[in-house]
Amino acid sequence: MATETLRVDAVVIGAGPGGYVAGIRLGQLKKKALVVEKDKPGGICLNVGCIPSKALINASKLYDKLRHGSEIGILADNVRVDMGQMQRWKETVVGKLTGGVRILLKGNGCDYRTGVAHITGRSGALVVEVEGSGADAGKSIRVETSAVVVATGSRPVEIPGFAFDGNRVVDSTGALAFAEVPGRLVVIGAGYIGMEIRTLYAKLGSKVAVVEALPTILPGTDPELAAVVARRLKKMGVETITGAKAKSWADRGDRATVTVETQGGDVQLDADKILVAVGRRPNSEGLGLEALGVRIERGFIHVDRRQQTNVPGIYAIGDVAGQPMLAHKASREAEVAAEVIAGRRAEMDARTIPAVIFTDPEVATAGITAEEAQGRGRKVRVGKFPFAALGRAIANHDTDGFVKVIVDAETSEVLGLEVVGNGAGDIIGEAALAIEMGALADDVGLTIHAHPTLPEAIMEAAKASQGEAIHIQNRTQ
Ligand code: NAD
Repeated sequence: MATETLRVDAVVIGAGPGGYVAGIRLGQLKKKALVVEKDKPGGICLNVGCIPSKALINASKLYDKLRHGSEIGILADNVRVDMGQMQRWKETVVGKLTGGVRILLKGNGCDYRTGVAHITGRSGALVVEVEGSGADAGKSIRVETSAVVVATGSRPVEIPGFAFDGNRVVDSTGALAFAEVPGRLVVIGAGYIGMEIRTLYAKLGSKVAVVEALPTILPGTDPELAAVVARRLKKMGVETITGAKAKSWADRGDRATVTVETQGGDVQLDADKILVAVGRRPNSEGLGLEALGVRIERGFIHVDRRQQTNVPGIYAIGDVAGQPMLAHKASREAEVAAEVIAGRRAEMDARTIPAVIFTDPEVATAGITAEEAQGRGRKVRVGKFPFAALGRAIANHDTDGFVKVIVDAETSEVLGLEVVGNGAGDIIGEAALAIEMGALADDVGLTIHAHPTLPEAIMEAAKASQGEAIHIQNRTQ
């Protein structure tokens, strides 16, 4: 195998929303960078996660709307799903974005190679050895660099008795690539992934059952918001078994049966497919980090606010560098790492990392909950505004949900904002900006919001926290 030798300022390992953003930003800052990716540019998010799931969720919503459109005067007979075509369309969406990543890296002067990278040690500079694969198979590179950015992401956790077999038992990647809509789908885990994918297939017509070990769906989410999602799922006929553990499964030829341990004894569920979505684990092994003495805690690489590990020159970003495992957190950390490498004064100082769960209705949060604020010794006022009172939501025929704003009772500062309702993911950006800028409830409430739009609910909730909402009866505080 021919070995090429390179000398760069930074090697980025992984080309997900962390790694490729680091490559682009390093290029912008005139640093000679090489991004190494063993699979495809874009990582899990663009190829088999955020983007394809949103393409399919959007398609499933359209199908569901058409089937239930008679109340608003749409009579569509014989609406069907062509799963093969839906999958091909999804692939074109992914292709556009991943192709764009390659173009952006190139445009910013960042080198990109397909291969497996391993940090082999120090000899003056850090050394990274890359064994080419895919388009670069048969080529190996020895790279000398002053910085390495580890952006290797995470992988799904397996549970005993449910090894992924790519057929009956699948992870989220498998579930987003089904060639047909499964007749019966059992989802293990009611977190982000389980809840998004169950919503998708329930809308496409699968009979879905979900098994969650904890007492509620979407653990970690304000129960008041999760309850709205639970109600809608019940209406859609989705079975939810909480406080239960999937023990084992057996192949019955034409189907599988899943044995679930519940408080009332074992329950059997029939399934064509079983999705296991019980969390993700960081990919920190096999990179040579242990030999260099990089501090790793429960699989996560330990970093400071400048994304630096305890070993000079080695940085980590994204899922591998700690919770929350969210693409947009990885991208911001990537900018910080690139800027620090380029000698700028940058650090991860976000007041909030917003989170969106693309269920029906959507859930979006930014900042802290009322309980968290009280736990930090702050007195809070809460303002709430229901979508049922909002002109645009009524016109959209989609009124489940509300906006809740958490305000410091003494300073009036907006501490947190929670939204459950369709469109939540698109309106949470305003909340994140308000929190980042230290906005007061009046800053949000007195900003003129265009009518008729969903963000008016944020304005009204901010006014409600002062007892001054216009389109609901204010409660005396
Ligand atoms: P998660 O941690 O969100 O949820 C896993 C769920 O599985 C938990 O509710 C847990 O109690 C349950 N569980 C664990 N073991 C179980 C068992 N044996 N039986 C039944 N239930 C069990 O994990 P996830 O849904 O796999 O998602 C992984 C990561 O991906 C998350 O950290 C999330 O941040 C990220 N993600 C984000 C988005 C988004 O931003 N919209 C979408 C998908 C995934």
